[in-house]
Parts: sequence; structure tokens; C-alpha cells
Amino acid sequence: MYVRAYGKPKSIYGVFERKPGDPRTTHYCPGCGHGNVHKYIAEAIDDFGIQDRTILVSPVGCSVFAYYYFDVGNVQAAHGRAPAVATAIKRARPESIVISYQGDGDLAAIGGNEILHAANRGENITAFFINNAIYGMTGGQMAPTTLPGQVTTTTPMGRAPEREGFPLRVSELLASLEGPTYIERVALFDNKSRMRARKAIRKAIQVQLEGRGFSLVEILSPCPTGWGMTPAQACEWIQKEMLRYFPLGVFKDVSATRPPIGTSAARAPMPALAAASPEDILARLGLKGVEAAPSMHEVEIPARYRNPRVKVAGFGGQGVLFLGRLLAEAGMRQGYHVSWLPSYGPEMRGGTAHCHVTISTEPIASPLVSRPSVLIAMNRPSLERFEPEVIPSGLILYDSSLIPVRPRRADVETLPVPATQIADHLGSVKAANMVALGAYLGLTRVLPIEVVIAALEQMVESHPLVELNVKSLRAGLEYVSAR
Ligand code: SF4
Repeated sequence: MYVRAYGKPKSIYGVFERKPGDPRTTHYCPGCGHGNVHKYIAEAIDDFGIQDRTILVSPVGCSVFAYYYFDVGNVQAAHGRAPAVATAIKRARPESIVISYQGDGDLAAIGGNEILHAANRGENITAFFINNAIYGMTGGQMAPTTLPGQVTTTTPMGRAPEREGFPLRVSELLASLEGPTYIERVALFDNKSRMRARKAIRKAIQVQLEGRGFSLVEILSPCPTGWGMTPAQACEWIQKEMLRYFPLGVFKDVSATRPPIGTSAARAPMPALAAASPEDILARLGLKGVEAAPSMHEVEIPARYRNPRVKVAGFGGQGVLFLGRLLAEAGMRQGYHVSWLPSYGPEMRGGTAHCHVTISTEPIASPLVSRPSVLIAMNRPSLERFEPEVIPSGLILYDSSLIPVRPRRADVETLPVPATQIADHLGSVKAANMVALGAYLGLTRVLPIEVVIAALEQMVESHPLVELNVKSLRAGLEYVSAR
């Protein structure tokens, strides 16, 4: 007869439905420390009986797929933002147990500010910080925790502190703050150290369960792939190299003396926000209320142009993002639901730029416009790229001064406008975007031009630019009327 002391925790799924293939292995490399940490967290969740109220916030990094493994509530956060997301969840659902799980690139680099302030506020959340001194997921680049002299793909000659700075000791840094309750650094290199890590993980969750505030456990974790080592060598490297820079130990523990939330005046629960109507809030902010959205029927917009989902595209520098923003701003002034989603990136340096705009009488579920009803194309690459996306019977408005070809689609309405040429006559080709917008308004009557001009005057501070833009808007509108 034998007793099974350890098995798969209940809070870890039995199969991982991430992608076809073996559903019982994780995506982590052999010898990676994430597996250990997942197991220790899941065991603690089981033992505390909190599976049904635990919410794990997954980061960007190697553990990005943690939600495929933990059978708890899961939320995926943007890079570095897990502590902010965890804060919001905990404040909204104080009865939940919220765990932020992050690597060193995520927590100590792009998310450095987030963790610092969550800790400083003493949020009643638990953060597990996997420190493997490298960016694992993206190919082994230098992280804030990379050791001096450590070779990474971005420090091929070794990290030089005088050039790349010193490794960030996150535990020591956070322990110097008033807010945190419990901060410990542990490691995974032999059984004893793993058991110490298991204990620390358990304690950090307990601190939250008792309402005693913020805790963080930093775990020095092997990354055999990123370090170019065998799993055994990686464990040795933690012991020989990482411990020299990142000593283990408890850096702060006031859990015995910090009273649980709600048990003293100093640790009072956060006061609930007084119920306030939208009108109260607007009045407190000194803003005027927005009138109910007019029905697009009432303002005599032809049916096919109502509730447009617009994609505006062109070269960086042609003002396509501004055009979209102005359209959205004016739509908002007119009382519609609006969204504006810009596409940034290399476009800022001369490629193609585009943005998504929705103007609607209904709440907007997603700002992404993947099937536009309107395409405003300011250059040929934009026309060729986005023409196939336009819905049948949609509208393609294009700058015929710069685009020498016609759209190929026969099932859409097309409106060629020599926007650049008209703007040039008015004084600057830069106002071609406003000519195109004026033409769009003239054809569709989606928004009154006065509303667009009022929004423009608020958005553009320089008077001469306002004047040119208004002239260009009107010129576009007249061009369509005169056809
Ligand atoms: S790259 Fe490193 S941290 Fe990422 S899964 Fe592989 S061993 Fe783990």
C-alpha cells in the first residue's frame, strides 16, 4: 500500500486545448521553471479551497498561455499591465483572489511603473514574478534583470553596466516602499529551494486571503533555452551566478502586524463610490450633457450611408488619422456613438497609415472596422489593399489626383475626388484630407458641415490652418454638389 503525496492539482486543467497535438504537455521548454511555479500556485489554490474565486492575470511573455493551464478565472493583460488589471479586478470584486503572473521583461521593463505603483498602493493582490534574467519568449534579449557580463542576443559581448545599466533588483526596490506587506525572493535549482518557493507562494496567497495587502514573490527560474544550457546546467547557473546578484530571502514581511482590511480605521475598506447619474457626473466635471443621439432617419441621411463604418487610409503625413479623428469627434458632438482606432507603426515614417471610424446610433461593440462600408483612400497602395474589404454596395472615395486607376469592384459605389489638386489650388496639398472629408459629407450627409467645422476649430489651434481646412472642407463639398 502506498500513499500518493503529490498529483496533478485540481486547479490545473486535465488537458490543454491550446492547439492540435498532445493536449497533455504544456508549451514550455524542458527544464523551464514555469511548470514548477504553475504547480505550486495551483496546489495552494486547491489547499485554500479558492478555485472558484481565483482570477489569474496572464502577462505577455513565455507564460502568455497560462490561461490554458489554470482552471480558474483568467484574464489576459496587455504587456506589463497585469498589476493594473489585477487592481481593477480586485477593487471591483473584493471577494476574489487575484494573482498577477509576470516575467521579468513584462514586470520589470515595460511594466515597471505598473508594479511599482500597485505595490506602493498596497493593493490586496498577489504578484508572482518569474526572473530568468532574459526575454525568453522573443528570443533571449537582454532584460532589466540580465546579469553584468551576461551574453544575450542583444548584448552579444555581454551586458556592460556602464552602457546598459545594472540589473534591477525588484524585490529590494519594492521592499523599500511602505505599501507592500510581504516580499520574498526564492529560486528553483534543487529540491530544497523548490520547496522554499512552494512555501513562499502559499504564504503570498494567504496574505491576500487574510486581507493584509500586497505581496510579491520573485522566483529565480531556469530558462535552459534562452541561456543555451541543459536543464541541469541552468540550475547550476542560477546557484553560481544569479544568487550572487539576486540573494534569496524575505525582504519585507509585516503580515503579522498589518491588520486585515476592514479591521481598523487605518485599514478601512475602500469606500464605495456614491451612486451618481451620468448627469451628476457631467455636472461635477463642469461639462454640458450630450443630447440623445439623433436618429439618422430624422436627419435625412440616405439609408445606405447610415451608421457608417469607415476606413481612412493613405501615406503617413497625408493626415488620414486626423481626418478619422475629426470625423469621430464631429460624430460625438452630434450625439452619436463613435469610435476611432488609429493604426500606428512604421506608417509614421512614410508607409501607409490608416484608421477605423464608426459612427452609429447604437453602442459600438468593437472599434475595429474589418468590413468597412466606406473606404476613403488617399493613395494607390491603400486603395489596392483595402478595396477587397469594402462591403458590397459600400462606398469607395479616392483621391483621383494621386491614384491613376479606378477601383476594380463593380458592386460598390465609387467617388473619385481630385483632392490633392483641389487642395493645391487652395494653398497646400496638405489639406487634401479635408477636401476628401468635405466630399464624403457632401455625398452622404452623414454629418452637418457646421458640426465638423466646430470640431475642427476645437482640434486645430493655429488659426491659419483652421481657415485653410475649412476652405478645403467646403471645396470638397462643393465639388460633389457640382458634379
Ligand atoms: S524560453 Fe525559457 S522561459 Fe520560455 S518556455 Fe523556454 S525555458 Fe521557459
